Parts: sequence; C-alpha cells; structure tokens
Amino acid sequence: MSDCIFCKMIDGEIKPDIVLETDSVLAFHDSNPQAPTHVLIIPKQHIPTMNDLEPEDVRLMGDLSLAARKVAEREGVSGNFRTTINCGRDGGQLVFHLHMHLLGWPSD
Ligand code: 5GP
Repeated sequence: MSDCIFCKMIDGEIKPDIVLETDSVLAFHDSNPQAPTHVLIIPKQHIPTMNDLEPEDVRLMGDLSLAARKVAEREGVSGNFRTTINCGRDGGQLVFHLHMHLLGWPSD
C-alpha cells in the first residue's frame, strides 16, 4: 500500500535497521524501543490487522513466529523475550500493517 510506512520499508523506500529478512518476512529495530531489544517482525504482504487474517495466512503467521525465534537468537535474548501483536486502536495498534513486537532482555 502506497501510504503504509512498513510497506515503504519492504520496498526499500525507507531504510530501517534490519535484523532479518526472508522471502515472506522483514524484521527491524523499533525506532522507539520499549526494552533493551525491541524488534518489529512484519509480513511482506500488506495485512492491516489480525482481524484481516484468512485461513491461507496460517503459514505466514508461522513464518513470523520462526523469525521471532531467529531474531531472539541473533540479538542474544533467547532466554528472555516476549512477543506481542496489538490489534485495533484500543488494542494499542498505531501502524496498520500487521506486526509482531519482540521485546527482549539480556541474561544476567
Ligand atoms: P503498534 O503500536 O502499532 O503495535 O506499534 C508500532 C511500532 O512501530 C511502535 O513501537 C513504533 O515505535 C514503531 N514505529 C513507528 N514508526 C516507525 C519507523 O518509522 N521506524 C521504525 N523502526 N519503527 C517505527
């Protein structure tokens, strides 16, 4: 979508700090981190919210979870992370391109 900031990142028009890229997924550091590691994992396909998911998107949601695992490994937070997907304005969603937050903390 032309006015979607995350689609602009996928198209290379805006250059985020990329952690991981696959055929289906892009992961990059959040510009306003809420934890020592804060990475956003997004599908390359524009899906606005979780409410827009269809049965054929099951594989893609699996890809997001596997990417989260790899991101946690790369960032050194495998033992201490949490993932969140906000849905809808009252659910805390500000960017309407589905994304998974990965918040991580280094081990002691
Ligand atoms: P939401 O509230 O929609 O679940 O999360 C949107 C996230 O996108 C926020 O954590 C916000 O900091 C992040 N964000 C918004 N604009 C940009 C940007 O231009 N670059 C990056 N790297 N993150 C962004």
